Amino acid sequence: MMSYRTFRRNIRLNVERDIADILCNDSNNMSDVVNADTASCSTVGLNVDACGVGSSTKQSEYECDNENNDGAIGADMPRFQYDFETSESDADDDDDDNGGDGTSDSIATLLSQWAVKYIGSVSLTCLLDLLAILKPHSSELPRDPRSLLKTVRTPEVESCIRHVSHGSYYHFGIEKGVTDQLRNKIDCLTCSNAISVQINIDGVPLFKSTNGQFWPMLGKISFPFVSDPFVIGIFYGENKPSNLDFLADFVSEYQKLKESGIAMDDKRFCFHVSAFICDTPARCLVKHVKGHTSYADCERCTVSGTWHDKMTFPDLDAPKRTNIAFDEMQDSERHKGPSPLSDLGVGMVSQFVIDYMHLICLGVVR
Ligand SMILES: [Zn+2]
Repeated sequence: MMSYRTFRRNIRLNVERDIADILCNDSNNMSDVVNADTASCSTVGLNVDACGVGSSTKQSEYECDNENNDGAIGADMPRFQYDFETSESDADDDDDDNGGDGTSDSIATLLSQWAVKYIGSVSLTCLLDLLAILKPHSSELPRDPRSLLKTVRTPEVESCIRHVSHGSYYHFGIEKGVTDQLRNKIDCLTCSNAISVQINIDGVPLFKSTNGQFWPMLGKISFPFVSDPFVIGIFYGENKPSNLDFLADFVSEYQKLKESGIAMDDKRFCFHVSAFICDTPARCLVKHVKGHTSYADCERCTVSGTWHDKMTFPDLDAPKRTNIAFDEMQDSERHKGPSPLSDLGVGMVSQFVIDYMHLICLGVVR
C-alpha cells in the first residue's frame, strides 16, 4: 500500500509535470498555470487545502525564461522553480532527502523548549501523548519525551550519583558553582578578597502521588559581591535524609577549599562559609540535634522547656549556648550525635543564623 508521503510526492510530481508542460506550450499565460495546477489536484480527488499542496501553490514561484522559450522540451525547457515553501513540505523533503536534519529537528527543538518552559504544567505523560499525535507527521520526533528533553542518562553521570542512606546524592561541587559565579566578576577582584558563601539546605517535595523529594544544597556568594544562588548538591529520597552521610562530599570539598582556596585566572582566593541559612527542621537535621518540639529546643540558650498544653520557654535568663559547648555536646538532652560540620570549624551556634524570613515572614506572621 502506498504511504501517505509517497502519495503526496506523486501528486506533487504530477503537478510539476503538468505545469511544466503548460509553461512550455504557453509560457505567457500564467493564469493557465494556476488553473492547471488546481485542476491536477482536483483530478486526483484531493482536497487541495487538506493535502497541503494547495497552500504551497499559493506561495510557489513560477519562473519562465521567455526569451529562450521556443516550446521545445529538453535543453531549451523553460527554467521552472516549484518552491514548496511551507514548513510541512520542507519537512517532508528534508526527511526524504537528508534523513531529517532540517525542519524536523527545529520542530523537536522548539517543542523541547516549549516543554521546558512549561515544565511545571506539562507532565511527561502529557508530552508523551502529544508526541504520539505528532509523531506520524514528523518521523524525526522521538516517541519518548525523555529523548525530546535530552534527559542525560550517561554512565558517567550515573557513576557520580552516590548511594546514601535511603536515597541518592549528586554533588555538583562548591568550587564549580563559585567559579561559575566569579567568571563575570574576576577582573574586579584581587587576591585579597576572601570569598564568603552562604549555604541553604531544605526539602522540596516533587510529586503529589509519592513522597519522593529533593534536598538541594544551595550556595550563594555573599562577599565581595552578592551572586545568584547555585546548586552545590542534591539529595533524592522517599523521605528526608535519615542521617548525614549525604553531607560527605560537601564536607570533604569544603575542607579542601578551606586549606587551598579557589584558584581562577592566576588568582587564588581564600574561601569560607559565612552562614547556614535553613528552616528549623533543616537546621536540626544538619546540626544533628533533636527536633524543634523538644525540651531543649532553643538554639541560643540552654533554657529547658515547660509543657503547658504546648512547649513554653518561660526562663528568659538562661545561659547562652556557645560554639565550643556545642562541639563538645555538653547538652546531652539536645544532641543526637556529632555533626560532620563541627569538624570543619563551622560555628554550630553562631553561623546557623535565625533569619528574618523564617522567624517572622514564615514563622510568627504566617
Ligand atoms: Zn533561648
